Amino acid sequence: MYTVAQLIGGVWGAGGEGGELVVHDPADGSPVTRTPVATADEVAKAVEAARGVAAEWAATPTAERAAALHRAADAVEAAAGELAEATTAEMGKPLEDARGGVAAGIGTLRQYAELAPVRGGRTLHGAHDALDFMAPEPRGVVAAITPWNDPVAVSCGLLGAALVTGNVVVHKPSERTPATGWLLARALDSALPAGVLSLLSGGGEVGAALSGQDVDVIAHVGSTATGRAIAAAGARTGAKVLLENGGSDPLVVDADVDPVWAAEQAALGCFANAGQICVAVERVYVHRDVAEGFLDALVARAEALTVGPGRDPETQLGPLVDRRHRDHVHGQVTAALADGARVRAGGVLPEGPGAFYPATVVEGCRHDMALVREETFGPVAAVVVVDSFSEGLRCAADSPYGLAATVLTGSMSHAQRAWRELPVGTVKINSVFGGAPGGAAQPRRGSGQGFGYGPELLDEFSTVKAVHLQAPGGGHW
Ligand code: NAD
Repeated sequence: MYTVAQLIGGVWGAGGEGGELVVHDPADGSPVTRTPVATADEVAKAVEAARGVAAEWAATPTAERAAALHRAADAVEAAAGELAEATTAEMGKPLEDARGGVAAGIGTLRQYAELAPVRGGRTLHGAHDALDFMAPEPRGVVAAITPWNDPVAVSCGLLGAALVTGNVVVHKPSERTPATGWLLARALDSALPAGVLSLLSGGGEVGAALSGQDVDVIAHVGSTATGRAIAAAGARTGAKVLLENGGSDPLVVDADVDPVWAAEQAALGCFANAGQICVAVERVYVHRDVAEGFLDALVARAEALTVGPGRDPETQLGPLVDRRHRDHVHGQVTAALADGARVRAGGVLPEGPGAFYPATVVEGCRHDMALVREETFGPVAAVVVVDSFSEGLRCAADSPYGLAATVLTGSMSHAQRAWRELPVGTVKINSVFGGAPGGAAQPRRGSGQGFGYGPELLDEFSTVKAVHLQAPGGGHW
């Protein structure tokens, strides 16, 4: 059993007067983690203490901050096995996936450590006897509020970029993965000056208290509803708000593709991490010409997945994060069935302990069903048959979200139409996942605002000062 401690003002074990939370293993319901809940007073103290060391960290040369981040990445690497095991124990994903998430996080820390020192500002062409330039500066205190679905990779991105650009960070990881957040903070803190990173523990109310504080940036990765509450809090305090939120990513399957290959792509997009990925495929618009072969192959894929606890090396489909989330997923599936859709695979709550949910294929879906329009975040393929590529593209574009979209097509003109017409941050042609290193995307509408990844995140955590240096009295220097 993990026992989490908070880190406030450089002191481990501080606070914890707000009671305690216990996290249960979603595979069998056994208790995994005991974690304190921060009081509003502790949240305020953490921000005040962070503010107290902000100027010193901001004045530390970038190369020194980058070196510290490299050492922090070494420390995370040394704890990688432990971090992956904690992730799997707390949120259920297969251990191999959890290891991948930790490796991705370490890679991101190193990328930011390399990129930060080579950034510069612009020099401007003003009067001959003047010097004008634009210098990036840290923003100050960053509140980083993160989710459970890929806890190390997501947190390393925000924390690495914020710290290396000279901000101090108060991190509030998800209440569903607090031990993972604690192990990560321990590793990072071991390489940083005391107080530069703080860790608060607890649920949404702690996140809300932190968002209401006098911080300079609130960076949130999580659900759209929470993102909107945080945006409102930021509007009250004047903090800059960065949001990477939910999605309902479409997959459009054109008439000219191999339906079996398309089903492999759909299965990967819908069922990886039990569908608990922000850019998971949530809805499929398949052309009528290939729909039958596609559905048969997708059902076969869904039924072939090995279901089990994430710690079992054979497992391909672990449990959902908890039963509350399983109720949400199953509720959307049953509502679609009551509205005329048909289940081709899965769709039934399994007996036994844990929060398992089978890989599910629902056909006969309509574009207006909640299963299609809202974020499900479970291993469910909601399939809509369309009569043309244009119809698929139109439906894909019509969404309250704007995170990412995938199109499978052999036609270059259809691929060109897709990237131009889809109002999302990322368009993927012929591959549901992947992409070059350093890729960043700006989510749109309900999916958030600002860059959450890539070199652009360094700019998000920086502000720029324009400087005009003129010789005195119109003379010479
Ligand atoms: P969530 O928003 O419920 O929780 C995320 C964090 O916000 C947690 O630390 C939580 O305690 C905190 N929080 C909750 N209510 C709050 C409030 N009122 N004020 C401030 N903080 C609050 O999201 P989740 O369930 O942990 O994560 C799943 C969601 O995250 C999905 O919607 C998924 O799509 C999204 N996500 C998005 C990305 C992306 O890059 N766009 C990446 C990963 C996950």
